[in-house]
Amino acid sequence: MMSTFFIPLPFLPSHILLDFFLQFLIDSLQMAKKIVLLFILSTLVGCSGLERSEQKKVRQQNLTVSPIERQEDEVFFPFPEIKVQKRASYPWESKRIGAHLRITKEFFRCRGNVLNPPIQLHKYKKLVYHLDCGGIERHSLPIKDGREFIYPILIDLLNHIQEKTGRRVLITCGHRCPAHNLYSDASKGARSSKHLIGGEVDFYVEGFEENPTAIVEVLQEYYGATFQRSNRFSNGATPSWYNKEVAITLYHSHEGRDFDNDHPYPYLSLQALFDRESRRAVRFNWHQAYNGYLKN
Ligand SMILES: [Zn+2]
Repeated sequence: MMSTFFIPLPFLPSHILLDFFLQFLIDSLQMAKKIVLLFILSTLVGCSGLERSEQKKVRQQNLTVSPIERQEDEVFFPFPEIKVQKRASYPWESKRIGAHLRITKEFFRCRGNVLNPPIQLHKYKKLVYHLDCGGIERHSLPIKDGREFIYPILIDLLNHIQEKTGRRVLITCGHRCPAHNLYSDASKGARSSKHLIGGEVDFYVEGFEENPTAIVEVLQEYYGATFQRSNRFSNGATPSWYNKEVAITLYHSHEGRDFDNDHPYPYLSLQALFDRESRRAVRFNWHQAYNGYLKN
């Protein structure tokens, strides 16, 4: 049998009582600390979710939708005035060189015209009538890689002449379609002319009508070298000037006359011999000449 022995508190020694009291105090404090911590934690956890959902509810209850109405002249923030700045054009973009229009492939279009009277030609030992072509409304320039094409060196050189002399280059014959080529010059040699493929141009320069050799000098200056001379590019009296890229032929006022060059001046003919882009010699091509352009 266990027997419990109680000693009444007032009869315990004083130091034991103090220990007991202190221990009790420490335990109580620790317990209180835990309770406070738990309370803070539960408040924090409970508030965040609850408060948010409550806020959402309140916001939805208070939500009123009304369209924004604004007067025509009502401006909250004034716009700064927009100034269009024009970019300075690059030299190659300019439409003019000095006082003259920049030469483009448009200047090379066929000069044929339906209003030109028919001419008589000998064909298969018969005398037949031949009509001029319909001109630029009826056909395009030679087509290369899906685009109208004139050998760029011709365009560049003519622009160079305009730039250096300050005078206008007058193109008398650029591209010729087969119909206009025959109309303009029915000679046998003309049938394989590079005019048909956009590789030749006839021109003279305003102010230099009687001095075409000055223009040849301008071109020599451009290449920084003198040209070689040969008679194989024309049947004219003056041997042509040529290098790898171009041949220049001078026709005096009594030479090289055809329908397009029916004027009183000597003129120059510039023929492309080498194409820098494709790095190939420019040769006459029958298929290209007679089918390599669009017509309607
Ligand atoms: Zn034509």
